[in-house]
Amino acid sequence: MKESSQNPHSDESRQLEEMELQKRLQVIKRKILVLSGKGGVGKSTVAANLAVSLALAGKKSGLLDIDLHGPSITRILGLEGSRLANDEEGLIAPLPYMENLTVVSIGLLLEKAEDAVIWRGPLKYNVIKQFLKDVSWGELDYLVVDSPPGTGDEPLSVAQMMGKDTWAIIVTTPQEVAIADVRRSVTFCKTLNLRIAGVIENMSGMVCPHCGKDIELFKVGGGERLAKEMGIPYLGHIPLDPGIVEAGDAGKSITDALSGTPTESSFKKIIDAIRVQTGDVDSPDLNSAIKEKSIMKIAIPVSEGMLCMHFGHCEQFALVTVDADKKSVEEVVYIDSPPHEPGLLPGWLHKQGANLIITGGMGRRAQDLFAKNGVKVIVGAPSDAPENIATAYMNNTLEIAENICDH
Ligand code: ADP
Repeated sequence: MKESSQNPHSDESRQLEEMELQKRLQVIKRKILVLSGKGGVGKSTVAANLAVSLALAGKKSGLLDIDLHGPSITRILGLEGSRLANDEEGLIAPLPYMENLTVVSIGLLLEKAEDAVIWRGPLKYNVIKQFLKDVSWGELDYLVVDSPPGTGDEPLSVAQMMGKDTWAIIVTTPQEVAIADVRRSVTFCKTLNLRIAGVIENMSGMVCPHCGKDIELFKVGGGERLAKEMGIPYLGHIPLDPGIVEAGDAGKSITDALSGTPTESSFKKIIDAIRVQTGDVDSPDLNSAIKEKSIMKIAIPVSEGMLCMHFGHCEQFALVTVDADKKSVEEVVYIDSPPHEPGLLPGWLHKQGANLIITGGMGRRAQDLFAKNGVKVIVGAPSDAPENIATAYMNNTLEIAENICDH
């Protein structure tokens, strides 16, 4: 890391640091500070997924983890063992994670994630400052910052250093006790004059481990009610998803684990809401990066010429080549399904060049396999002719119902 030769307490040195901080931050279009009233509500999980979803939406993003209590971003993204390096100017070079996303985490500097816990106040303050000031992010559309939990000194320092043009996002869970913490977070933001982009209710409802469907488990909607009551925007909910925990345990990146799931669509909806709240609507197309590829091949399971609800048992697949820019169907080819064999279809469809599957229902395991093959899946589509489905998809008029349970 960079060392200063000046007396760190002199006014001149402080001014210089302030100027460097401003220089670094002013090329970042939107700074998002992810807060929570207390630990364990999924703040880091949400911060990481927001950054990934923004990157997938084509936004140049950075993810900064300064949750010194438990820097968990490295675990969540499967980056354990990776280390940060300095660039030629002596600044911290952020670690490239995927297209459009670089990451800096305190966990990428420490031997053990817990090491930071024993640091004393002034050291923590300096580390936080260094992470904001001495990282060569370059120009970014979004910087998502995972802050320490609560409303104490550390999140306060982070918020003050990031400046008043920062957007706060408050993460909560549906329980009353967590909701009470949101009030404190809102008061915290108002006291600091931080703009609040909105509240996200995490672990709200559940994704069925068998069929991948979003089901209501406990009382949901507390975060939404509270947002309304306090006059702040509600950005959406994320279900309790066993896939999130499994991915974390396996050190697997969430992009692989969540692709094509209701959790992924929850994040997409939240990203759209954030873009609206933060005035980032210059591009009329709020769709995901896949549409920006323009020419794509959509695979649709069919039976007697119509979309077939039973993905694994359809007679044929329609491979629809479309130009997403022109919103036109270029070609429809029908091919017979391979013999029924568990786990075969994802690899087979990938070989056919499909980069999107639109189907009625699909089990979670199959969705995971597609994700591994880089094929996106949309479930819950209606029975219709493949051309109509593809056209509706391109025009954003495809009516999506629930995933038909298909173990
Ligand atoms: P925080 O940053 O608020 O302390 P984390 O993001 O570290 O919380 O999450 C705490 C635990 O909850 C982790 O084990 C994480 O995998 C799990 N978790 C977070 N969000 C979800 C979710 N929507 N579904 C299932 N597990 C979740």
